[in-house]
Amino acid sequence: MVVDRGRRTWGGVVTAVRNAIAVAVAAVIGLGSPVLAADAYARSYTVSRGETLGGIAHRFGCSTDALRRANKLSGDMIRIGQRLDIPERCESGAEASGSAVVHTVLPGDTLAGIAARYGDSVDGLKSRNRKVIGNKNMLRIGQKLRVVPTKAVQPPRKIRYKIESGDTLGAIAERYDLTVSDIKRMNPKKDPRRLRVGDSIDLWIEGPVVRSAAIGRPQHGELVNGQQLPSGRSWYRRRPERSWGTNETIALLSDAFDAVQRKHPSAHDIAVGDISAKTGGRLAGHKSHQSGRDVDIGFYFARQPKTGPKAFLDATRHPLDYEATWELLTTLAGPSPDKSRVEYMFIGYAVQKKLYDWAKKQGVSQRKLDWMFQYPRGSRAMRGVIRHEPGHNNHIHVRFKCPKGDNKCL
Ligand SMILES: [Zn+2]
Repeated sequence: MVVDRGRRTWGGVVTAVRNAIAVAVAAVIGLGSPVLAADAYARSYTVSRGETLGGIAHRFGCSTDALRRANKLSGDMIRIGQRLDIPERCESGAEASGSAVVHTVLPGDTLAGIAARYGDSVDGLKSRNRKVIGNKNMLRIGQKLRVVPTKAVQPPRKIRYKIESGDTLGAIAERYDLTVSDIKRMNPKKDPRRLRVGDSIDLWIEGPVVRSAAIGRPQHGELVNGQQLPSGRSWYRRRPERSWGTNETIALLSDAFDAVQRKHPSAHDIAVGDISAKTGGRLAGHKSHQSGRDVDIGFYFARQPKTGPKAFLDATRHPLDYEATWELLTTLAGPSPDKSRVEYMFIGYAVQKKLYDWAKKQGVSQRKLDWMFQYPRGSRAMRGVIRHEPGHNNHIHVRFKCPKGDNKCL
């Protein structure tokens, strides 16, 4: 267990994101935290209150030693406001923190593809697996690579599919969210034109073993096979027992929080309030939050508030970290209205104004502002992804759309 002293003062417990599912392909071989791979954004870092060298090192996947050397420090003393150089290549430090998982090379895998899937870096993969893949970086099916994940991943698992009468490769591919050429790659020794009823093919599929389902309405519904938001390296769960959501909710949230911290390494951990109870249904203190699609999230603040992410703080009274908050809102909203997985985000009108004014000053297009904000069209206008609700000056309430395929979701 890597104890992350620097951020522990924040109450953010950092542990490995591990799947509850027994996994045949990737096995967790170390304890500790997945770490953020140092990337192009992370060359320099300003020390905030309560941080330690060890904590910062951990955050960037460096060893404390590497960070000391890069900054010519003799001890562990750092000051608030001090700027630290973060070495670009810290992957060996990630190794030291023992957070690697094993990925077994699948047909069609590439280093870039594996890196993207786990949020690892190609350089890190190469240097960590030099002995296996050699200097030519040759991948062979079945090789075992050490991977350092920076996001919650469902490692692929193999299923054996028996061809039934009436099956087509196209239909099988569609059912498992694959393409026909994926299936061909996964079965290099089989001629797809000669498959007969009763023959078997191997499929490597991703995603949960048991899929979640949102049932009914957010105000009157339930959650089947919900997934719990794991404790994460970029967020703080206020009530883990109320942190259950659909597979999509959990994936979108954890990806968004991680993306914000990758792009804004000085952003603090974000507070995540209630999502849903394990099986959904009525949740004390809320009208909705019943089907795993609603989540309350705190804001990012310019200075880490003393109470840390444990409490929701009023954004009309505490200065926001606009960059990080905007990054979160736009990441969640998605690239365009038709691709958005978000139905609404509820934010108090006064806070909307602050965010709107800031975004406009940054040169965000009017078109995007009109899509994102209800402001300035009045707090009752039925426009914009972000809408006013009383009581939402200290948190963002995000409602996701019904997950695709959840036919009983309303
Ligand atoms: Zn809420």
